[in-house]
Amino acid sequence: MTAEPRHFTTQLAVIGSGIAGFAAAIFAINRKIVTAQVGNTGALAYTTGYLDLIGKLGGAAGLVTDPWQALASLRETEPKHPLCRVSADDIQQAFAEFTDFLGACGLAYSAPGASNITALTPVGTLKQTLCVPATMAAGPRAMAANTPCVIVDFRGLKGFSGAEVVANLRDRWPQLTTRRLVFPGMDRGEVYPEVMARALEVPATREQLAEALNGVAGAARVIGLPAILGMHRPDHVRAELERLTGREIFEIPTMPPSVPGIRLRELFQQVLPQRGVTLIPQQRVTALSFDGDGATLALSDSYGPIRVHAQAVILATGRFLSGGLEAHPAGIREHLLDLPVTQPAGRADWYRDRYTDPRGHPIHRAGIEVDDSFRPLTREGRRYHDRLFAAGVILAHQDWIRGRSGAGIAIATSFRAVTEAKRFLSGR
Ligand SMILES: Cc1cc2nc3c(=O)[nH]c(=O)nc-3n(C[C@H](O)[C@H](O)[C@H](O)COP(=O)(O)OP(=O)(O)OC[C@H]3O[C@@H](n4cnc5c(N)ncnc54)[C@H](O)[C@@H]3O)c2cc1C
Repeated sequence: MTAEPRHFTTQLAVIGSGIAGFAAAIFAINRKIVTAQVGNTGALAYTTGYLDLIGKLGGAAGLVTDPWQALASLRETEPKHPLCRVSADDIQQAFAEFTDFLGACGLAYSAPGASNITALTPVGTLKQTLCVPATMAAGPRAMAANTPCVIVDFRGLKGFSGAEVVANLRDRWPQLTTRRLVFPGMDRGEVYPEVMARALEVPATREQLAEALNGVAGAARVIGLPAILGMHRPDHVRAELERLTGREIFEIPTMPPSVPGIRLRELFQQVLPQRGVTLIPQQRVTALSFDGDGATLALSDSYGPIRVHAQAVILATGRFLSGGLEAHPAGIREHLLDLPVTQPAGRADWYRDRYTDPRGHPIHRAGIEVDDSFRPLTREGRRYHDRLFAAGVILAHQDWIRGRSGAGIAIATSFRAVTEAKRFLSGR
C-alpha cells in the first residue's frame, strides 16, 4: 500500500541545514515569517565553530586583520563575489543578529568587531576570524599577553596534540607548556571529543577533571583544552571548571567532526522547533516545483512521503560536500532544479597544475548565479522564479576555503535572501 503524503503549508521553505539554512531560519522567524526547514546532514558538524568573514585575501601572504577593509578591497577586485552584493552594514547586522540569537539560546559568541581575532587551529597554527565561541575567547587573549598557560591533551585522544600546539606556537608564546592527562573514567583505548563533552555535562566528571588539571597546571594561570566543554551548556561547563580550578580555561577546536559544530547543529535542532519552525532534519528534498500558487517540496521520511507547500523558497544546499552541486564527467550540476552553474569550460580546467597554487583552483569558484535580489538566474539571465531565492556557498564567484569566509558568505547572503523573501511575501 502506498502511504498518503503528509502536507505542510508555510510561507517560507528553507532547503539546507548548514550555516546558511539555519541563519535563514533565524532571520525569518525574527521577521515573523512562518518557516519550514528541510535539511540533510551536511558540513555543519565539521566546522570549527569560528565564524569567519574574510580571513585571507589575495594568495598565501594576505592574512586579513581588518575584514571590513578587506571587504572594501574585494569590491574593487572581485565585484561578483557574493559578499560584495551585501552592504557592510547588512553584514554587520547579520552577524550581530546571528550571534545574539546563539547567545540567547545559551551558546555565547564574541560580537562582530572592527577587526579579526587571531584564533588557534587544532594544530596550533593561527587563523583570522570575526567571531569566536565564548569558550574559546580566552586563548587569543592569553597568547597576545604571553600569559603562562598549559595546553592539556588526553591519553587516547587522536587528532589533538598539546606537543604539536606548543611546537607551532613556541616562538610567539614562550610561556606555553603542555601536559597529558587521562580523562576521568576513560583510561582505556581511544577517547572521543563528543563523548568527553557529554561526560563533562555531569558535575562529578567536572570535579574529577578539575582535580587532575590542578595537579598539572603548576604556575599556569590559564589552561587550554581541546573543545570538549560540554555539548549543551558549554559556557556553564567552562565557568564551573574555572571555579573549580581557580584558573581561566579556554577551548581549541579539534579536527572535524568537532564538538563546536555538533553543538551548533544540536542547538538549532532543539531551539528552532520551539520558536515555531517546522524542522524536518536529516532528510533530502528530492523534487522542487513551482506553479501559480507557490512552490512544492517533495521528500520522504521513514513514515512515507511529505509535501511542503510554500509561498517562497530559499535554496541553501551548499556545494560538493553537502550535495548542492554535483561534479560529473560532463560538468558540474545543481542537483535540485538543474540551475545553470558557472564553472570552468571543461574538466581539464577544474584544477591548476600545482595543488598548492596560491591562486586556488577554478572548480572552487563554481556555483549558481543570482541577481541583486538573490534570486537564481536561468541561462538566459532571467529569474528562475519570483518565489525562489538562494544563499550560502552554492553561490558562484567565491572560494570560501581560500578566503576563510565560509560562515560570512552563509550568514550575509542568508540575511539578504530573507530580506528579499520578506519583501516578496509582503507583496512589495
Ligand atoms: C572541515 C570544515 C571546516 C570549516 N571551518 C569553518 C570555520 O572555521 N569558519 C567558518 O566560517 N566556516 C567553516 N566551515 C564552513 C561552514 O561550515 C559552512 O560549510 C559554510 O559556511 C557554508 O555553509 P552553507 O550552509 O552554505 O553550506 P553547507 O554547510 O554545505 O550546507 C548545505 C546544506 O544543504 C543540505 N542539502 C543539500 N542538498 C539538499 C537537499 N536536496 N535537501 C535537503 N538538504 C540538502 C546539506 O545536507 C547541508 O545541510 C568549515 C567547513 C568545513 C567542511
